[in-house]
Amino acid sequence: MPGGHTRTVLTHAPFPLAFASGSGATLIDVDGHSYIDLLGDYTAGLLGHSERRVLDPVMTALKNNVSVGGVHPAEATLSRLMCERFGIDRVRFTNSGTEANLMAIATAMQATGRKKLMSFLGGYHGGVLYFVSGPAPWNSPYDFVIAPYNDAAGTEASIRQYGSDLAAILIEPMQGSAGCLPADAEFIRRTFAAARSVGAVVIADEVMTSRHGRRGMLSLMGSDAELKADITTYGKYIAGGFSFGAFGGRADLLDQYDTSVEGGRVAAGKPVISHAGTFNNNMASMTAGCAVLGQVFTADVAEAHTARGDDFRASVASVLARHSLPVSVTGFGSMMSLHASAQPPRTIMDVAYRDNDLQELLFMGLLKRGVYTAARGMINVGLAHNDEQLAQTFDALDETLTAISAN
Ligand code: PMP
Repeated sequence: MPGGHTRTVLTHAPFPLAFASGSGATLIDVDGHSYIDLLGDYTAGLLGHSERRVLDPVMTALKNNVSVGGVHPAEATLSRLMCERFGIDRVRFTNSGTEANLMAIATAMQATGRKKLMSFLGGYHGGVLYFVSGPAPWNSPYDFVIAPYNDAAGTEASIRQYGSDLAAILIEPMQGSAGCLPADAEFIRRTFAAARSVGAVVIADEVMTSRHGRRGMLSLMGSDAELKADITTYGKYIAGGFSFGAFGGRADLLDQYDTSVEGGRVAAGKPVISHAGTFNNNMASMTAGCAVLGQVFTADVAEAHTARGDDFRASVASVLARHSLPVSVTGFGSMMSLHASAQPPRTIMDVAYRDNDLQELLFMGLLKRGVYTAARGMINVGLAHNDEQLAQTFDALDETLTAISAN
């Protein structure tokens, strides 16, 4: 593997950690060091490393069939669970969040007959849909325009400019990879209204944020229909750590995939969209997803976990307040990020002013004290963390800040 890895985000100086095993919320590296896992695999590891309520049914299912090559009951059950849980009419499965977004884009382009797309500076929707520091040169060659996040007037102007050319807007309710930067509810409301006024499809990327509240983060910004996306994408924790992605939403958009329609054509005379993917309904992910949404991470658990995350973030902020270092925390619910900047950033442009050396010292200081976070500052509280581990984390953060201040 070039660079010794196959997932760029996992690398950091002087070399990435290599892990040998994990149990609950603890990770053991190949040298035998133990860490509290506060990264939770960038939100995919919400359940921790040994959730038997997910692993046992997966093992049982795999004894019966690994690769089916046909439809099977677990995918039907999971689709019902997803539609009920997230309030969507229809859903389809993919292998990853990236793919879910690519398919959501295809769905919107086919429905509208338009090609132009809008995403936001700081957005991340997959390796080939990367806008964290502007559009990456290796992005999929779609016709994207980039709007300013958390700037309602700027976004409205941009939507007006492209008007009836715009097929869809693609937006995260909280920009995760940019540093857990939540959207203002007002910005979301005005952006969605502007998109709808030009006939563009609203695609909400809740790959990370669907863990918040009973129905995902958008639903916590307001319960009215105006705040509902037309298509929502999902991924990460839903298959309990197995590969997963899904896109779902309005029946009229998703029914473009309905092969049961007579003659294989949908209402407007367009062809049914063919959606391929050998592993879309793979046994491990579908079975795991049923256990995660059906038993482990129910709406009640999700609601309580969001509140626990908010409490944890408030405690982090109070540890930071004991020190005079320019460090702040942003986030929502159980997802957050430490920033080496005195003021909590609102947009990726603010993140650009972080003190990179201090950011690295924070990461290394926590690591040295047995707490594994993302090098860029991300922290995700999971279901397996006990109160003692969270208290140890506050101590580790306090000691790290004291040590940095003393030098
Ligand atoms: N959207 C968002 C908001 C994400 O955070 C990610 C992954 N970090 C993706 C999409 C892509 O998901 P995957 O890595 O499963 O392709």
